[in-house]
Amino acid sequence: MKHISLFLFAVMVFMSCSDLNNKTTSNSEPTVSSDLNEEKQDVATGEVIDILLQSDDKMKFDLSEIKVKEGQTVKLTLKHIGTMPVSAMGHNFVLLKQGVDLTAFGNASAQSKAPDYDIPTELLNDVIAHTKMIGGGESVSIEFVAPAKGTYQFLCSFPGHYGMMKGLFIVE
Ligand code: ZN
Repeated sequence: MKHISLFLFAVMVFMSCSDLNNKTTSNSEPTVSSDLNEEKQDVATGEVIDILLQSDDKMKFDLSEIKVKEGQTVKLTLKHIGTMPVSAMGHNFVLLKQGVDLTAFGNASAQSKAPDYDIPTELLNDVIAHTKMIGGGESVSIEFVAPAKGTYQFLCSFPGHYGMMKGLFIVE
């Protein structure tokens, strides 16, 4: 009996020690976990937001700023209200990752050898979401989840268009 109670005692001491250890580790990061909880509450997971972005024969988007919430599903429709064909006045919507230089991206995508000047495959790593290139009278829709809070840039990557066709994509 003595042996057993000694053993139990040892187990209890061991358990309370590891309890203490656990407490020490979790106590060291209380701020991190509460931050995470706050972020979770802000994230609008599951909500869908419809965005209509129009473009025309004058090489313009009708929006220079698009605002969404983090975690929202963005349903973006790009409409070309002009009449010119895709080969002459093609438009697309390209949302760049943060840190990607818009001018450099625009110049590189102008070298596209793809049909209708679609984004060259080697540049897709710089892109969060994009539509195909469309011409007058056409429209195209894409769906993607809004990335982390921050300010992003979008553009039309048709050769020579990014100077006029660009804007800010703001995730709140
Ligand atoms: Zn364009």
